[in-house]
Amino acid sequence: MTGSLFIVTAASGTGKTSLVKQLLATTNDLTVSVSHTTRAPRPGEIDGQHYHFTDTDSFTNGINAGLFLEHAEVFGNYYGTSEESVRTQLAAGIDVILEIDWQGATQIRNIFPDAIMVFILPPSIATLRQRLSTRAQDSVEVIERRLAGAVTEMAQYVNADYVVINDNFDVALAELKAIIVADRQTLGRQQQRYHRTISNLLNTQVEE
Ligand code: 5GP
Repeated sequence: MTGSLFIVTAASGTGKTSLVKQLLATTNDLTVSVSHTTRAPRPGEIDGQHYHFTDTDSFTNGINAGLFLEHAEVFGNYYGTSEESVRTQLAAGIDVILEIDWQGATQIRNIFPDAIMVFILPPSIATLRQRLSTRAQDSVEVIERRLAGAVTEMAQYVNADYVVINDNFDVALAELKAIIVADRQTLGRQQQRYHRTISNLLNTQVEE
């Protein structure tokens, strides 16, 4: 049985990392791919857990060696998804979430046309600004750059399969989880999972 690939995209500050973290805590057989980045770690970020932090030379070598399924430059830093770990998890039947920007999402959909794309939007620009500021992990200049980029990012929502508005965290989390659960109930996945059960049900001769 193979897992499904989910792409979760949102403008920076929408709360997608917190939503995905909470989703993982309450859902079996689901993981998030840890990206590589040339961005400096924020306070509290752990190498190998939040990102694989790397330098530009190593990242470029990774691109040339074909290590990345997709990669993109976002706000002056490089980000990329390791191909090997994603394929290994999917092959083991684990659903994989890619928390990536719209450029990466476009590349992934060319490789995995069945990937399910979820776009998370904030309820307003004012909320987005407030969330970016209260995160207090980035400088004012970085926050303003991210806000300016947010509109370009959010305009890509039309390419998604599902849209979640993160106004109330618990509601958004429930909606996100519903998307994962619904995918697990589709015909194709149930046929894989319950192959034997279905075969038994349909081949049983019922005595009157
Ligand atoms: P941040 O620096 O706030 O962690 O992430 C900045 C942006 O880069 C976010 O939109 C995030 O989704 C995106 N991002 C994180 N990892 C990857 C990746 O592996 N590939 C791509 N294309 N974007 C990524």
